[in-house]
Amino acid sequence: MKNYKPKGRLAAKQYIDGILKGDRVLLSRAITIIESNLDSDKVLAKEIVQSILPYSGKSIRIGITGVPGVGKSTFIEAFGKYLITQGKKVAILSIDPSSQRSKGSILGDKTRMEDLANMQEAYIRPSASGDTLGGVANKTGETMLLCEANGYDVVLIETVGVGQSETAVHGMTDFFLLLMLSGAGDELQGIKKGIMEMADMVVINKADGNNVRMSEMARLQYQNALHIFPQSESGWSPVVSTASAIKNIGISNVWDEIEKFQKLVDENGYFLKNRNHQQIDWMYNNINEELKRLFYGSKNIKSHLKALEKEIIASEISPVKAAEIMIQEFKKSFTTESH
Ligand code: GDP
Repeated sequence: MKNYKPKGRLAAKQYIDGILKGDRVLLSRAITIIESNLDSDKVLAKEIVQSILPYSGKSIRIGITGVPGVGKSTFIEAFGKYLITQGKKVAILSIDPSSQRSKGSILGDKTRMEDLANMQEAYIRPSASGDTLGGVANKTGETMLLCEANGYDVVLIETVGVGQSETAVHGMTDFFLLLMLSGAGDELQGIKKGIMEMADMVVINKADGNNVRMSEMARLQYQNALHIFPQSESGWSPVVSTASAIKNIGISNVWDEIEKFQKLVDENGYFLKNRNHQQIDWMYNNINEELKRLFYGSKNIKSHLKALEKEIIASEISPVKAAEIMIQEFKKSFTTESH
C-alpha cells in the first residue's frame, strides 16, 4: 500500500511546466499530490515544490480570520471580486484543522463563494486534511507556493477564529486581517486579545441597516484598544474600519490599507525580513513534525510506550524516567533501523 503509485500521475516536469504556464488543471492536480500521504506522492511533491520555488513568493499573502458567522465567506467573495476588478488574480486557501475530524467542517459544509468560484481569475481550494495542524498548515503553505508560481498575485488564507490555526496562518502571511462584529460580548474577549495582537487590520463587518451606528462605536472602541498593544516590529499601526460585505461597502478601503502597508514594509525592509523569518520557522516546524512522525510512527516505540503507560499507572516508574527510556530507545532504533 505504502509504495503504491496512484494511476494517472504524470512526471514531475509535466506538473512543473503546467504550473509555470498558468494551467489550472495541472495546478489542481499538483495540489492533490501535495495533499496526498502516499510515499510516492511525497517524493513527487517535493520535486515539484523545489522546482517552482524560484517562481513563487511574488504575491501578497493575506490571512483572514474571524468567528464563524462573522461573514468571512461573504467578505472574501466581495473582496476577491474587487481585487479582480483591479486586475489581480486571487487564490483562496483555507486552514481548517477540524476538517479532518468531522466531515461537515466549519469551512466546508456550505456552498461558499459561488460567484468567485466561477471566475477565471480566482482559484478556491478548501482546507487540506491532516492529522495535525502542523501537517495541514504545511500543505497549505506548499499549495500557496504553487498558486504563486501559477500566477496568482494575491493569496488569501482563511481560518476560523476558534483555535491555534490563526497563529499558523499569521506565520505564513504578510498581512493579517481580523473580521469582527459590533456588539460582540465578553465571550469573544478571550479570542480577541491574542488574535487582536496579531491583526494588521480589524474590519467590523455587517455595518449596514440598524447596525451602522453600533459598528462605528465598535470601530472607535477597537481602535482605542489597539493603541495599548506595543508598536509592531513592522512599523505599521493597525487600523480598524467598518464594512458591509453583503452591501459591498468598505471593501476597497481594505485593499487601500493593504497597499499602504505593503509600501511601508517594502521601504523599511520589514517585508523581506518577515518572509525570511517565516521561511526559517517553516523549516523548524517541519523538523518538529517529522521528528514526531518518526517517533510515534515507529512500531518499536509504539509497543514500548504501551508497556510504559501501564508501569506509570502502577507507579512502577516515573513519567520523566519513562520519557528518558523512550528517547534512548528512539536513538537506538534510529541508528539500527534507518542507518
Ligand atoms: P462565515 O461563517 O464567517 O464564513 O460567515 P458567512 O459569510 O457565511 O456569513 C454568515 C451570515 O452573515 C450569512 O447569513 C451572511 O449572509 C451574513 N452576512 C455576511 N456579511 C454580512 C454583512 O455585511 N451584512 C449583513 N447584514 N449580513 C452579512
